[in-house]
Amino acid sequence: MSKDSDKIVFSGMRPTGSPHLGHLAGALRNWLKLQEEYTCYFCIVTWHAFSSEYQNSKSIQQFTFEYAVDWLSIGLDPNKCVMLVQSDIKEHAELFLLLSMTIPLPWLQRVPTFKEMQKTIKGKDLNTFGFLGYPVLQTADIILYKASLVPVGEDQAYHLELAREITRRFNRFYGEIFPEPQMLLTEVPKLAGTDGRKMSNSLGNIIYLKDSAEVIRKKITPMVTDVRRKKRTDPGVPEDCPVFTLHKAFVPREKRDELAKGCLTAGIGCLDCKNVLIEALIELLSPFWDKRREYIKHPDTVRDILQEGNKKAREVAAKTMEEVRRAIGI
Ligand code: SF4
Repeated sequence: MSKDSDKIVFSGMRPTGSPHLGHLAGALRNWLKLQEEYTCYFCIVTWHAFSSEYQNSKSIQQFTFEYAVDWLSIGLDPNKCVMLVQSDIKEHAELFLLLSMTIPLPWLQRVPTFKEMQKTIKGKDLNTFGFLGYPVLQTADIILYKASLVPVGEDQAYHLELAREITRRFNRFYGEIFPEPQMLLTEVPKLAGTDGRKMSNSLGNIIYLKDSAEVIRKKITPMVTDVRRKKRTDPGVPEDCPVFTLHKAFVPREKRDELAKGCLTAGIGCLDCKNVLIEALIELLSPFWDKRREYIKHPDTVRDILQEGNKKAREVAAKTMEEVRRAIGI
């Protein structure tokens, strides 16, 4: 893998549900570009999934497979990036353990998402040691490969800042082993789900990448729109419309501007507007669906690709851990 830049990128996704439009708009599109420029490690973070799904852990394996299938189908190329499964590389756990011994507890207790997620994810007891330590495991994931760049949205900036602090502390104690990871700020559009709230696995309001044209149509057609448009003749405000969050991510700008004008002047109906979005999604996802069908037919190919990625990752991780053990002295 020879790239113009010698910078290393690390990013991951939690296999807690099937990949959806939010993953595509917020990460995967960006990853497709990054794999061309940098040495990239894209990780299916199974242990992070386990930290919230420990009472329903059997689903993680199935979703891990689905993530691999969808990543490949969308265009991640195992010749251009390393695709790995976190729990197949035990060094993630070892580094997590060692880091966790060095981190002052208040650093973790003040993480805003810890309390937020406990509140928003209903029906799960997330008041656990593992969940509190989530940012430490995240740091281990990144620095194990000496990644210097981490693509994150603004809402994740705090976590990365904490990862940098954890890395600095480790380096101060044991020598400059790890580069401090830098944030590669990525625009992560806030997509509304089919019920108008934020698109999220835990809310069950998702449009999945694997959804067929028919399912997409069924999900988008009844979506709530700007409340001002009670009648066809009422003008609306696209910025206040949940459907338009999807237009912003998936409909080309020129067409989108035209629709926005039509909305503001009541020149178009909501159904016309939704149909443009539906067609844009079908056009965008059709090649993905074709490839996905092929990968689903050949699960061994997918598993072999993951094995190969794991092998490459393990070599790097083993080297890093040798260095870490030597520096710590145990
Ligand atoms: S016309 Fe489009 S942007 Fe305007 S309210 Fe209807 S669906 Fe939303």
